[in-house]
Amino acid sequence: MAGEPQADCLFCKIVSGDIPATIVRETDTTVAFRDINPQAPTHVLVIPRAHYPDAAALATAEPGLVADVLREAAEVAAEDKVDGTGYRVVFNTGAGAGQTVFHAHAHVLGGRGLEWPPG
Ligand code: AMP
Ligand code: ZN
Repeated sequence: MAGEPQADCLFCKIVSGDIPATIVRETDTTVAFRDINPQAPTHVLVIPRAHYPDAAALATAEPGLVADVLREAAEVAAEDKVDGTGYRVVFNTGAGAGQTVFHAHAHVLGGRGLEWPPG
């Protein structure tokens, strides 16, 4: 069924607690944790508890959950005090764009100057 946990998914295992993570926020529908290989002083991943392979699939199946993820991204930015200086929310979609984990996730990046356009 759409959204069900996948046995071979790293982020489903973080949701279930089978793999540890530095969790910064949790809601009924989302989990936010620090990226293991941070690219900025604030680099947090916000994921839906439900498994969808990417943001597009998530938006099609459960648009309300996209809003939950984006609301949490803003909460993370505020808690890390990067909302004032600005932050970036990124959904890498597809291997060609650098997606390596195929469970939808938002990167929240801040705390340093962020170039535009990104590389
Ligand atoms: P993406 O490349 O957009 O699919 O993002 C996947 C992100 O997950 C990368 O930035 C990784 O550094 C991060 N990552 C991989 N394994 C873990 C882990 N166990 N805990 C936290 N972040 C992770
Ligand atoms: Zn998953």
